[in-house]
Amino acid sequence: MASNTLTPSTSTSTSSASEEELTLTVKWSGKEYTVRVCGDDTVGELKRRICELTNVLPNRQKLLYPKVGSKLADDSLLLSQLPLKSSLKMTMIGTTEEDIIVDPVESPEIVDDFEIGQEEAVDIKDKEVNKQKLRRRINQYKIELQNPCRKGKKLLVLDIDYTLFDHRSTAENPLELMRPYLHEFLTSVYSEYDIMIWSATSMKWINLKMGQLGVLDNPNYKITALLDHLAMITVQSSSRGVFDCKPLGLIWAHFPEFYNATNTIMFDDLRRNFVMNPQNGLTIKPFRKAHANRDSDQELVKLTQYLMAIAELDDLSSLNHNNWEFFTEDSAKRRRHT
Ligand SMILES: [Mg+2]
Repeated sequence: MASNTLTPSTSTSTSSASEEELTLTVKWSGKEYTVRVCGDDTVGELKRRICELTNVLPNRQKLLYPKVGSKLADDSLLLSQLPLKSSLKMTMIGTTEEDIIVDPVESPEIVDDFEIGQEEAVDIKDKEVNKQKLRRRINQYKIELQNPCRKGKKLLVLDIDYTLFDHRSTAENPLELMRPYLHEFLTSVYSEYDIMIWSATSMKWINLKMGQLGVLDNPNYKITALLDHLAMITVQSSSRGVFDCKPLGLIWAHFPEFYNATNTIMFDDLRRNFVMNPQNGLTIKPFRKAHANRDSDQELVKLTQYLMAIAELDDLSSLNHNNWEFFTEDSAKRRRHT
């Protein structure tokens, strides 16, 4: 698989004008920051780059630039469509999270999932422009290990919002919003899987939330790494426009001796997050309305059984995770013996 061959040091040669690098100066809070982007990046990606430097979350940024006006409010617009010049300065207005201690509010589009047709999904994964974006992200994003990778273990990548935690309900204690059996689930699967957590929010929020739930210092399992929204890439689909996704190729490129397409599985309530690696994604039923569903939600119990049943298989990507509920111990045995 092509994405397996990518490494953090891959050099990139660009030819088309849209792939040309732009160096922009952004003024914020009395300081100037230099941001490097490409013509085929969107305004949304520009805001992510600015967020890396300033800690102002993309949805809290307002960008001002002569003559471009309201276009910078449209995150889906490509930078090559704007008359940006390296000599001009952009101004950003926005407040960092340190100054606003409230839960991050997602835009409604992030809540609704949508299906992307099989053919189009293949197209997105194989598009050169998207592979290029992935290579850039591999070079830019550093994955800090919380705990060492373990030889011979498979990799489980977990989303947070609606997968492990109901971030939309309110409670006195965040533990009330935790998906039932979370610690039991992590404890069991840790015997066969290294665990990474990847959320489309900020690292600050991920640390805060996972810390409150007791996931980061649990004596029964260890988390290998945390990844945030800056590790995501933006892709374009003809039917659904621009959206962000979580390319596992980023992890595989950083730890090729441990993880690859055959031993990785990712849980997310949004199927589109898997678009760069559809064979590795399992769409989990969203955990919403925690107060009403806390006593009945059994997803993590059932998924523990599934993960343990498939753990001995050599190639997880040959499975169709859409049918995970129908998978049995017997079919794992059959697969091992063929
Ligand atoms: Mg989610």
